[in-house]
Amino acid sequence: MMTSAKDDNSRKMVYLVSACLLGIPTAYDGEAHLYRELRVLVARALSARGYVVPVCPEMAGGLETPRPPAEIVGGDGNDVLDGRARVLTIAGKDVTAAYLDGAEYALEVAQRCGVTAAILKQRSPSCGSDYIYDGTYTGQLRAGPGVTTALLRRHGVIVWSEEDLNVNEILAQASLSETM
Ligand code: SF4
Repeated sequence: MMTSAKDDNSRKMVYLVSACLLGIPTAYDGEAHLYRELRVLVARALSARGYVVPVCPEMAGGLETPRPPAEIVGGDGNDVLDGRARVLTIAGKDVTAAYLDGAEYALEVAQRCGVTAAILKQRSPSCGSDYIYDGTYTGQLRAGPGVTTALLRRHGVIVWSEEDLNVNEILAQASLSETM
């Protein structure tokens, strides 16, 4: 009897993770933001029931790496989705469309893979979950999610940041540790 990918995934723990947190150099400055505990999660997930799907919404939206830094001006990711705020580079170029495209891509991946949860990079205008830079390019933060996080949450995806949970808590929630 054939099983669909969705049926198969429904029995697994699947995490959507910001690519830069996994050591992939996708950040605007060409760097990665490797979060070593997540590498442990990947290794354990691969040897157990789950797996990890890396995604970089900004590159998926068509932006290059490296690229000029950008921030949400006039609100947070929800405001961008509702047309009340824009994403502008530090030089003032409007890159909102790329951020929206990247968020849609991440959502499609999440839905196709039947993700359990997403673990996304805090402070990013795409991936931030609790706070993001405030649109003044001065390093100041404001509360609110990035564009991708806002869209994922609107569709019921649980989003954590790398600061929310340690790997043992993640494994415990996924029950992956039982199989190791
Ligand atoms: Fe990392 Fe997300 Fe920024 Fe891509 S968009 S570099 S995954 S924080």
